[in-house]
Amino acid sequence: MTAKIALVTGASSGIGEATALKLQDLGYTVYGAARRTERLEPLADRGVLPLAMDVTDDASMRAGVERIITDSGRIDVLVNNAGYGSYGAIEDVPMDEARRQFEVNVFGAMRLAQLALPHMRAQHGGTIVNISSMGGKIHTPLGGWYHGTKFAIEALSDCLRMEAKPFGVDVVVIEPGGIATEWGGIAADHLRETSGTGPYAKQADAVATSLSSEANAKRNSPPQVIADAIGKAVTARRPRTRYATGFAARPMIAVRRILPDRAFDAVMRRATGIPA
Ligand code: NDP
Repeated sequence: MTAKIALVTGASSGIGEATALKLQDLGYTVYGAARRTERLEPLADRGVLPLAMDVTDDASMRAGVERIITDSGRIDVLVNNAGYGSYGAIEDVPMDEARRQFEVNVFGAMRLAQLALPHMRAQHGGTIVNISSMGGKIHTPLGGWYHGTKFAIEALSDCLRMEAKPFGVDVVVIEPGGIATEWGGIAADHLRETSGTGPYAKQADAVATSLSSEANAKRNSPPQVIADAIGKAVTARRPRTRYATGFAARPMIAVRRILPDRAFDAVMRRATGIPA
């Protein structure tokens, strides 16, 4: 049998990089996409096929999927992983940046699903894996725009799962907890830049410190944990609809389900050290 074909976005770092290698180990032909193609070189050395792609640029997404179909003739797995945390007080985040956050985390992912689906339907098979977050189920202070994108990914994935089922296409949501990648530092930088001065400065300082602290980096799970969950999902005969895994994901989602809103707010305030 010819190898199955996978596309992983955000393959230049963290979860995407680990996932590209995991799928490669499982025997997939893997296309790893990112903007920083130089950061795809270590993957290319291991046989992953690099693709220059910006998920805010429609032409680059169309070209990427076209190249996969031209070269490999099919697409079996799409892992929508590219994303970042545009942290900052909702009041402070410029609307252009809020839109950009949705472009990358939501519209890019769903546009790639649109581009992959005709091929998956024609094959009568495929799996779309959307990387949400435990932040698609819970909220943290000063992460409003980010959580907005991840809650949106959750809802879109549920609808897509129902729509795609008759065509033999599975849709899987991954809800990582704290994972040791570049994500926390990037979110902290956004937060300091956006709300580091002004009325939210005290909250911003506390949350940025907690996002990028060494203690957090140490207790976070390695990206391999998420890559393994994705590997399990795409090889399962009947994948689960959601995989919550990595540091604190399951307990935090459970606590959110049980506690009333203000009680959960208090838990998060304490966890991030922001003033009441
Ligand atoms: P990293 O910052 O390590 O990696 C993010 C990846 O996204 C990079 O490869 C980057 O590639 C890519 N990316 C960002 N913007 C774009 C863009 N416009 N077009 C194409 N690619 C882009 O973070 P993680 O590996 O941690 O994050 C992966 C996913 O996991 C994200 O969706 C994140 O929200 C989610 N997540 C992470 C958690 C964590 O604790 N780390 C927890 C829960 C969810 P490049 O810049 O080269 O384009």
